[in-house]
Amino acid sequence: MTKLANYVTGQWITGDGDGQALYHAVNGSLIGHATTQGLDFGSVLDYGRRTGGPALRKLTFHDRGRLLKALALHLRDHLDRFYQISYQTGATKADSWIDIEGGIGNLFSYASLRRQFPDEPFCIDGDSIGLSKQGSFIGQHLLVPREGVAIHINAFNFPVWGMLEKIAVNLLAGMPAVVKPATVTSFLTETVVREIIASGILPEGSLQLLCGSAGDLLDHVQSQDVITFTGSATTGLKLKSHPRVLAESVPFNMEADSLNCIVLGGDVEPGMPEWDIFVKEVRKEMTAKAGQKCTAIRRIFVPAGKIEDVWKAIAKSLSQTTIGNPLNEQVRMGSLAGQSQRDEVRAQVQKLLSSSQIVYGSLDSVQVVDADAEKGAFMSPLLLLNENPFADTTVHEVEAFGPVSTIMPYQSLEEATQLARMGKGSLVCSIVTADTTIARHFVLGAASHHGRILVLNNECAKESTGHGSPLPMLVHGGPGRAGGGEEMGGVRGVKHYMQRVAVQGSPSMITAITNVYQAGAAVHEDEKHPFRKYFEELSIGDAVITHKRTVTEADIVNFANVSWDHFYAHTDHTSLEGTIFEKPVAHGYFILSAAAGLFVDAKKGPVLLNYGLEECRFLKPVYAGTTIGVKLTCKQKTVQEKKEASDVKKGIVKWLVEVSDQTGEAVAVATILTMVKLKFQ
Ligand code: NAP
Repeated sequence: MTKLANYVTGQWITGDGDGQALYHAVNGSLIGHATTQGLDFGSVLDYGRRTGGPALRKLTFHDRGRLLKALALHLRDHLDRFYQISYQTGATKADSWIDIEGGIGNLFSYASLRRQFPDEPFCIDGDSIGLSKQGSFIGQHLLVPREGVAIHINAFNFPVWGMLEKIAVNLLAGMPAVVKPATVTSFLTETVVREIIASGILPEGSLQLLCGSAGDLLDHVQSQDVITFTGSATTGLKLKSHPRVLAESVPFNMEADSLNCIVLGGDVEPGMPEWDIFVKEVRKEMTAKAGQKCTAIRRIFVPAGKIEDVWKAIAKSLSQTTIGNPLNEQVRMGSLAGQSQRDEVRAQVQKLLSSSQIVYGSLDSVQVVDADAEKGAFMSPLLLLNENPFADTTVHEVEAFGPVSTIMPYQSLEEATQLARMGKGSLVCSIVTADTTIARHFVLGAASHHGRILVLNNECAKESTGHGSPLPMLVHGGPGRAGGGEEMGGVRGVKHYMQRVAVQGSPSMITAITNVYQAGAAVHEDEKHPFRKYFEELSIGDAVITHKRTVTEADIVNFANVSWDHFYAHTDHTSLEGTIFEKPVAHGYFILSAAAGLFVDAKKGPVLLNYGLEECRFLKPVYAGTTIGVKLTCKQKTVQEKKEASDVKKGIVKWLVEVSDQTGEAVAVATILTMVKLKFQ
């Protein structure tokens, strides 16, 4: 008998007893057993906190991002093995691609996201906030990695993506993970974790795996931990209200049942490209992963007059879907993950049938290719029709987690919006329309009840990632029934694993703590112009206070001629009545250019180029006769990674440029970026 192992406390450990038997979803044969019996869950969590946590927190965001990239590259070398195992969950090649390569894609995306963070273990959150009249007291939010473990309790449908989409985020944030996949498909997760551990890429303790029951895991959580849960609302509620989770205020992110929907816009007629796009999207969502996707379309809303045409078109499209052994190349839909999943779906369909009828498919039989329909967990796609969705509301309450969807009529856009909201919170909804007014009304009306909305038309359909694909840089989660959680979402997701702290103090103190210069903090000027310093030689707060220059009328006229910017306020004395300007005003870009003329050290040196500009504001009109001076301060430094071995070693330096007039008042402020060479190549 094969037993899956758990990777805990730095070792692969097999649990006691038989645990749960795991079966091949396609032929019903026994694969092995999964058990966590005998494991000390308290020690598992403690090991993550003591070992993985400190190791990850020593690394910067950039280091952690590079680990994710290395991991993604490593896993890509083992795809064949993962695909072979994935077939045993009933997944076709296309289904496995979503799970396996979609998951690896997430690692790549989060690896790239490191560039949006500083090369530090922590980051600042937003701008500093002035808290006093004289500017000597400010506040700045910081985000530091939480010092616990990220505990991921996952659903059975995405054994790889479910793990990777979550650990990519907590690892980038600097937190270790304990992953507990749903037992039924945990054999695939185990295969991937074996590769991750064997690669030695992650610091020890960053990732632990439990294959089998979660036992008393939650009895050991602590306040610095984070729990994410994907699964049924019933289990979610139970775990979320666990006394220890409540007592320790452990953040609990939940993704649960979701009655996602799609709306066919009233403007779409047969023959329009949007008509076919709609039918194709519905078929894809019903059949991909045999409908076992948290985002799959469960409710289809169609203008009442078109309902028959639409269900017939969907039925025709479904009839062309070959079902059977996922290893057979003709097969487009595999099996459910197991017999118990199929039994569960059938029971849910029975509930839906109290207020609807089947217009395509059969609940009891299915034609399969290259497989035994009884031994494997196969099921026919089922299209149901509910003609009265406002009165018969089971469809807005019951989720059949399989290839099942219900089509329903609506009379007006308001009704469609209301129906979409009757799911009481879902992960995603789509509208297919070519009409911008319909799209705007629907999106604004439905947005509060959905985590993501796809507006599909002919313009974007070819490149659209589709209704059912959560994307690493967009939030995945939904309000209400969908659990009220948010995962991924780029930088947003990383913040879920970090503690936000508001630090108050003087600008100089906050500068010293954050390594980012705050306006008003002490600066240091020395003999050497900062543009003559190599990257390593520059310190935050290094500054140059320039000599001065008086702006003349000729400057304004010349700049208008050079730039061709003849905007009336710069050039036409007679046009200023009713404006805030007393006389022709200097161009803001001239002030910035003149500032550069003052602060730049022109001789060839370590500054390689001007990289750009951020956060620029023109604060006060500058007229001819005004004398300006500049303070240029080194604000932030980030080493750049080399793309090629032959590249020069360099970094990006941000400079605060403060331009003031003869009264000392600020007239312009900007952050400029330069690329600066490292001394040691
Ligand atoms: P489930 O039965 O709720 O299980 C989800 C996870 O919770 C599994 O890892 C399960 O482990 C674990 N679990 C169950 N009881 C537990 C307990 N007492 N303590 C700790 N962990 C416990 O859901 P499922 O059957 O895997 O997934 C199907 C459901 O998930 C569907 O209803 C679907 O709506 C929902 N789903 C939602 C999303 C989403 O993102 N919204 C995504 C996928 C699925 P065991 O496997 O060991 O029981």
